[in-house]
Amino acid sequence: MALFEDLAGKTAIVTGASGGLGLHFAEALAKRKVHVMLAARSRDKLDSAVQEIRSQGGSAEAIDLDVTRADSVAEAFAAIRRNIDIVVNNAGISGGAAAIDQSEADFNAVIATNLNGVFLVAKAAAQRMKAQGNGGSIVNIASILGLRVAGNLSAYAASKAAAIQLTKSMALEWARYGIRVNALCPGYIETPINQDFFQTEAGKALVNRIPTRRLGMAEELDGPLLLLCSNAGSYMTGSALVVDGGHLVSSL
Ligand code: NAD
Repeated sequence: MALFEDLAGKTAIVTGASGGLGLHFAEALAKRKVHVMLAARSRDKLDSAVQEIRSQGGSAEAIDLDVTRADSVAEAFAAIRRNIDIVVNNAGISGGAAAIDQSEADFNAVIATNLNGVFLVAKAAAQRMKAQGNGGSIVNIASILGLRVAGNLSAYAASKAAAIQLTKSMALEWARYGIRVNALCPGYIETPINQDFFQTEAGKALVNRIPTRRLGMAEELDGPLLLLCSNAGSYMTGSALVVDGGHLVSSL
């Protein structure tokens, strides 16, 4: 079987899929004939994303989900009647602020989304996968900021570091059920949300510190994502796969 072909006919949930990288990941899976469930809070955006995927010949549906709320996660999973093969925990917020000024509420919101959200969704998915009895793949979208720090992103960096450790713990505990759990750690990827920042002097200076001297493109995450989701990565679990143009190995 050719690379990634085993994905055809599988079902994936992608959280935070109403835009940005989440929507891109959903499209990348749909192109591999995966039925994608786009899960997020804003129904309007989700519905148009689903229409877009269907118009390209993909199979998709929308699910209402707030990853920070256990009741929302339980409701979303209860409504899913299919077998769940793949989960991409992509929902995330950055909550940028200097630690000395950041409110407790803002700090908690970042942890609630980027860490607790991953826990709630992965746990619900693992319970289903265990009951189904044929394993599965969970990919947690972390960041290079889970492995190094940058100014004014302390809550984000802490949440992503914790998400990487959570990934490893889950991988250890769930290998017995055939469930692989890996973290994908992107560097700076150009998305509509950060495009403007990278036109500023500060943004350009940041790009200059990346050894490859450029931002990543969303498409450059497709291979690593599909690797972790498919049988091509069948012996990978508990890994934190870095895709960053060499940013983490930039010279000190
Ligand atoms: P984005 O803000 O465009 O997308 C985040 C998505 O998460 C949005 O659709 C948002 O609605 C959703 N979301 C937020 N809170 C949610 C909640 N409580 N429940 C459900 N959905 C929720 O950002 P993005 O750049 O597309 O980032 C996607 C993921 O990739 C994030 O986890 C982010 O930390 C990670 N990441 C992004 C980059 C980058 O350069 N863009 C780099 C490294 C990691």
